[in-house]
Amino acid sequence: MASSDHPFRPESLMMSHGYKPELSEGAIKCPIFQTSTFVFRTAEEGKAFFEVAYGIREKGEKEELGLIYSRLNNPDLQILEERLCLWDGAEECAVFESGMSAISTTLLEFLSPGDVLLFSNPVYGGTDHFIKGVLTRFGIEVMGFYPWEQEELAERVKASGKAERVKMIYIETPANPTNTLIDIRACAALAQALSTDERRVLLAVDNTYMGPLWQHPLKLGADLVLYSATKYIGGHSDVIAGACLGSRELIARVKELRTFLGCMAGPWTGWLLLRSLETLKPRMETQARNAALVAQFLEAHPKVTKLYYQGLIDDPAQERIFQAQCESPGAMLSFRVQGGEAGAFRFLNELDLVKLAVSLGSTESLAEHPATMTHAGVDPVEREKLGISEDLVRLSVGVEHPDDLIWDLEQALKAV
Ligand SMILES: *Cc1c(COP(=O)(O)O)cnc(C)c1O
Repeated sequence: MASSDHPFRPESLMMSHGYKPELSEGAIKCPIFQTSTFVFRTAEEGKAFFEVAYGIREKGEKEELGLIYSRLNNPDLQILEERLCLWDGAEECAVFESGMSAISTTLLEFLSPGDVLLFSNPVYGGTDHFIKGVLTRFGIEVMGFYPWEQEELAERVKASGKAERVKMIYIETPANPTNTLIDIRACAALAQALSTDERRVLLAVDNTYMGPLWQHPLKLGADLVLYSATKYIGGHSDVIAGACLGSRELIARVKELRTFLGCMAGPWTGWLLLRSLETLKPRMETQARNAALVAQFLEAHPKVTKLYYQGLIDDPAQERIFQAQCESPGAMLSFRVQGGEAGAFRFLNELDLVKLAVSLGSTESLAEHPATMTHAGVDPVEREKLGISEDLVRLSVGVEHPDDLIWDLEQALKAV
């Protein structure tokens, strides 16, 4: 077989990377390894596999990771992990049965009682609940900050008297649903400044909104990148999954806890995501192109009172962050319509092509009402502070024909 050292780009490798047809009867596609356990050729081999899996010894240079049991590893997951690494330039990846299990396992692995977690507001509702309602039960102190407090964050941490207990900074950018940006490089610098020889402060970034195509946190100094693979990576609204990426050393720790919590993805989920990854780039590019046209239309519409879209940022500080860390405005936008909640509901109920549902990043366009749906659990005062108003609609733009999308939005806005 030809084998060159030409540096192929990720989109060129999504169909083949990490898969050896000769190990699967020559099948061009990776089969679904729907099996719980794997047969060892000899007892010695089984022993050797376990030694590596349980960290009793390091993997030899030429040694392949042996297949043992599908809670530890499975070809569909391993190949998926190798392919996901390519987009972010990561050393290692761990995939999970949901975005939430990727996030919760990672936080639990790196935080211990007495540690302080610094996190950006707002974060995904499930993450918010896990941080405030679960981590705190284990003696972990949590400290939130708002996007408009970024400039004085280092000062605030110092003034809190907790600086030497900060163990992790967790951010989500752009933040859902108002597209507010957090400066990844500045947070990486803060993590570094808070680190000592004995205590390394980690920066973890939920990159679901822009990744893996348009924002690469590891290259901007983050230690860990997290995904709800349910969104753009899966991209067809037919699977729930998650991922965590980073250095070999850090992901080895995440995978160890994943093994014992048992929240790895199954082979069927792995296979679905392998299939999704083949079209990731064309899907996301079409979605971003459509979003730019939709944004242009909404911006000019008299019934749209405010638009939140990365391609049309009006705050100079936010625009600077966008230029420094994002490679595209993405395909998520939100906007306020006339008439408060009633106006927003009229609009949502009139949509025809665009579906009224939560989630995002899929081939079909999805619209929802954050204040009463995805963010219903957020305290009302907090909601107002974050700009999650009653008249706000969130739109995830899909791959439909842009003229059809605009037609649909226009006819629904007529009802407002
Ligand atoms: C959906 C989502 C999650 C949670 O992922 P699941 O796959 O639903 O568990 C986490 N973060 C962000 C930004 C999300 O959009």
